[in-house]
Amino acid sequence: MKKEQVMAEPFRIKVVEPIRLISREERERRIKEAGYNVFGLKSDDIYIDLLTDSGTAAMSDNQWAGIMLGDESYAGCRGFRHLEEAVHDVLGFNYVVPVHQGRAAERLLFQVMVKKGDVIPFNMPFDTTDACIRSLGGKPVNCVADVAYEPQAIHPFKGNIDLVKLRALITEVGAQKIPFIMLTITNNAGGGQPVAMSNLKEVKEVASEYEIPVFIDAARCAENAYFIQQREEGYQDRALAEIIKEQFSYSDGCTFSCKKDPMANIGGLIGLNNEELYRKILPLLIAQEGFITYGGLAGRDLEAVARGLREMTDDDLIASRIRQVEYLGELLVDSGIQIIQPVGGHALFVDVASFLPHIPQSHFPADALAVELYLESGVRAVGLGALAFSTPDEGTGETISPKMELLRLAIPRRVYTDRHMDVVAEGLKRVYERRNQIRGLRIVHAPPVLRHFLARLEPV
Ligand SMILES: *Cc1c(COP(=O)(O)O)cnc(C)c1O
Repeated sequence: MKKEQVMAEPFRIKVVEPIRLISREERERRIKEAGYNVFGLKSDDIYIDLLTDSGTAAMSDNQWAGIMLGDESYAGCRGFRHLEEAVHDVLGFNYVVPVHQGRAAERLLFQVMVKKGDVIPFNMPFDTTDACIRSLGGKPVNCVADVAYEPQAIHPFKGNIDLVKLRALITEVGAQKIPFIMLTITNNAGGGQPVAMSNLKEVKEVASEYEIPVFIDAARCAENAYFIQQREEGYQDRALAEIIKEQFSYSDGCTFSCKKDPMANIGGLIGLNNEELYRKILPLLIAQEGFITYGGLAGRDLEAVARGLREMTDDDLIASRIRQVEYLGELLVDSGIQIIQPVGGHALFVDVASFLPHIPQSHFPADALAVELYLESGVRAVGLGALAFSTPDEGTGETISPKMELLRLAIPRRVYTDRHMDVVAEGLKRVYERRNQIRGLRIVHAPPVLRHFLARLEPV
């Protein structure tokens, strides 16, 4: 939908939270204390925080009003009814399992559906999803189209499943070993890249041939719908709300981290139409999260989630959000910095291999760049490279480094202005200009798993 006029954010600011830039000397002290790992920084020492878009949104006045109206009854609270209505209206599901966040939704659904030896095709599984399936003895298999691995290739739907890979996998392992197929929209692990409606439809058709259910990992389903509206034939004149709902019509259910597009600070859910499956999940829900009408959340959180689900269907809101991510992307490209193209819905990714070609992966260039950006301008982004994703080879035990070294800048929803984006871009540009002087990092100590969250590092 082309607009004639320049459009600003479709909201004005009613509450503000002060932030400040501490001095360069202080930043040097803080990052040293943090073991040269941005996860160890205190938020008060950060000027602009682009660590994640999860749970960091600014809630609306309507969501805050819902917080005040929260009904804290243990069973049968009003907030649950509002959540059921919102899930039905926005996503089209009849049954809702509330949970404290997305990974709890995954754990409950997978415990009921995944057996040892099962294989689950994905476009690309998100890390918590991957870990949960493996812990149950299942094997997630990546069936994303190859273009997802070409950072500079401009393609409208880099999150699509490759249907040839999907069919080959079903033929190879047999449909009885596949309890469901899962599509993550947008594809977070692949850089927030969208999945086309045609792909959702085709995956459902293939799945139906073999009577395999399809689930959607729905955290950014509104952003995905926006990309469909902008990029897919036949959707230009359709309202976002309609497109969001159509996506789920090609599925049997969803898991949903409501800390993303629904702009709640905490919360998640499972949406389903199959009553039998819903009934199987309930005892686990009570044992692991809480009673079936609150699922580990306060009643007030249910209100914030229910209202956020409705708000995320606003065309202008999602358009302004993605425009801001694109704006930052353009500033970086104009400075000669290479980023993954096209920018994703919630984040953009700097190609660190081209930024710091002189630092070998064994010296963690992505994390070194995160440290430099913090030192330069007080901005926190996160390195996603060898520190996070190196794995030992199953045979030789040698370290296998990931294909890419990336710096992720995730943009919280409704939190920062374009001026903040200018500061981020300018800081990164200054680091780029002195990139030849930047050194890598080495590990002082780190746990064997999930080491990028906890590692202590030092300059080489
Ligand atoms: C964030 C996320 C999850 C996990 O949700 P949490 O609320 O963080 O537990 C699962 N899948 C995707 C795609 C996500 O982005």
